[in-house]
Amino acid sequence: MNATTILIIEDEAPIREMVGYALKRAGFEAVEAADADEALVQVTESNPDLILLDWMLPGQSGMDLAKRLRRDDRTRDIPIIMLTARVEEDDKILGLEAGADDYVTKPFSPRELVARIKALLRRSRPHADEAPVQVGDLTLNPADHRVSIDDRPIAIGPTEFRLLHYLMTHPDRVYSRGQLLDRVWGRNSFVEERTIDVHILRLRKALTAHGYSRYIQTVRGAGYRFSCRA
Ligand code: CA
Repeated sequence: MNATTILIIEDEAPIREMVGYALKRAGFEAVEAADADEALVQVTESNPDLILLDWMLPGQSGMDLAKRLRRDDRTRDIPIIMLTARVEEDDKILGLEAGADDYVTKPFSPRELVARIKALLRRSRPHADEAPVQVGDLTLNPADHRVSIDDRPIAIGPTEFRLLHYLMTHPDRVYSRGQLLDRVWGRNSFVEERTIDVHILRLRKALTAHGYSRYIQTVRGAGYRFSCRA
């Protein structure tokens, strides 16, 4: 089972190292970045489950980086906790508006930070307590947010994960794009129906190498279906 990976984006090395140490002690995988450029590389390479983002970074600010991560389909679902030395109410609101899910004010104790991380992971993974779902050799585990085939993990984005989870737990039924939007993205999302096709395509691509793409079926004029009998 892969550990939950946390990306720490912080230019002050002592804080970054202190946080990294605390996270590893708490059982997380920790990866570090000192600025926005390094962060974007790490986001792609490490596929983090959660991001700790310092507000005051050299170059691109934490707030701008948060906005950027929220605009990108591949990173929009990664929970973000802002680390901020600012305590003014306006700044907290700005941070949340930029796309952060929570914020921790410096100085913070490692214990408090770990507690906030765990709370946010629970909130952002509503199915985390559920049992793994298995079809053939394909296993989806809500607890660690991983999909594996024959015990080998496959790379899959957070949205594709939620989509696959929904389809695997509701097999052999056809869902329209609108229904999938409601149930996987939520009623208040601003996502267009066409977006579903993009995520279905990505999901199929991730499963293709292992011969599982045929499980995701297009039903012309109606929508999509996960078929265990494929
Ligand atoms: Ca800083």
